[in-house]
Amino acid sequence: MKRLLALVKDPSIKVKSTITDFLAPQRVWLNIDERAKILVSKKEILKSDPLFSLDNKIYYSPISGKIKNIDKRLNEEGKESLFLQVLNDYQESDHYAGVDFTTTIIEPTLQKKILNYEGYDWNKIKGKKSLVLNGIEDEVYLANRPFLHKYYHNEILLMLDAIAHTFGISVSRICVKENDRESIEAFQTVLSTYPNMELVILPDVYPIGNDVVLKKYLHLSEEDGVVTTEEIFDLYHEIIKARRKDFIFVTLTGDAISNPQVVRVKIGTELQEIVQEVLKFQRDDYEVYVNGLMCGIKSQMDRIILDEHVRAVYFMKPIVCETKQCEGCGKCNLVCPMGCKPYQALLTKGKKGCTNCIHCGLCTFICPSYIDLAKVMVGDQDE
Ligand code: SF4
Ligand code: SF4
Repeated sequence: MKRLLALVKDPSIKVKSTITDFLAPQRVWLNIDERAKILVSKKEILKSDPLFSLDNKIYYSPISGKIKNIDKRLNEEGKESLFLQVLNDYQESDHYAGVDFTTTIIEPTLQKKILNYEGYDWNKIKGKKSLVLNGIEDEVYLANRPFLHKYYHNEILLMLDAIAHTFGISVSRICVKENDRESIEAFQTVLSTYPNMELVILPDVYPIGNDVVLKKYLHLSEEDGVVTTEEIFDLYHEIIKARRKDFIFVTLTGDAISNPQVVRVKIGTELQEIVQEVLKFQRDDYEVYVNGLMCGIKSQMDRIILDEHVRAVYFMKPIVCETKQCEGCGKCNLVCPMGCKPYQALLTKGKKGCTNCIHCGLCTFICPSYIDLAKVMVGDQDE
């Protein structure tokens, strides 16, 4: 495949090395799809009460408190969606209080639980000869996976090993980047207890953390399954701990803030509360991007809810880049890791280009005329 790009990063917006916990928000907002079936009939709820079900999964309340209302908020794509608001009573009473989740589940029981679990598409894994754990972030400055590895490497390896055993997979490879010292150290301390697993250290090039690109880079075939750190961590909670996790990791970064960091927050926390209580910044001359600078979207800070689809928020000083006429340099075609032709897509208003676009944003990044080619690739006719 084509050589991927080693991007020069701004060291001043690197996240700090410890995580910040913000697990007692005033309220949470839970995104309820129109297809969701509401399961709760009372107003007062305990933490871990089932609230609604969707696509074979049950969604539980991450806090105890009172159900207030349903209202519109912005989802990770910047689109309005219905959210259920729960006000925190700070009691944290929990249906699961007193249950010992650390008890080891004996292997046959765990395998049975995995095979019976319907909330995951096991076809990604069934029949594969090897399993690849993608532990590399697919956006610049994003740092959730390194922190998940640092704090939960035991849980992640336990689940990965159980899945590999259940489906008869003989080898698992854990992929991390060469500059991700924390993940490397975390896995190296425990990998000797897993003889069927190996650590694969890859260069810091973009967008190697995208599953499709990683597959190409490692020359994987249909016989190799790829899973992400988050998928395995979620499965650990849902199968071994028998409850969905009620928190997420979110990277908060950007050149408009002085304290970039990864925070562990309750699912459904309002970004505004985090900005006031954790980032503590007052300025208003910034722009907010959800889930990335390369392939994220610009959004409105006061309406963003941090749920499972939000992995990062970037606070950036505005830059004025006036779009100019295409000068036909061809750099966009050259840089594309998927062999697409953004230049042709631009000329044909999105009709020609390629269907393999992974929306990595490299073509936009490289364009000297500041043309948003990634938008053109999704059929935006305005560019
Ligand atoms: S066309 Fe642009 S956004 Fe799409 S994969 Fe290629 S470089 Fe990335
Ligand atoms: S990189 Fe920009 S200026 Fe160059 S060919 Fe592509 S769209 Fe045109």
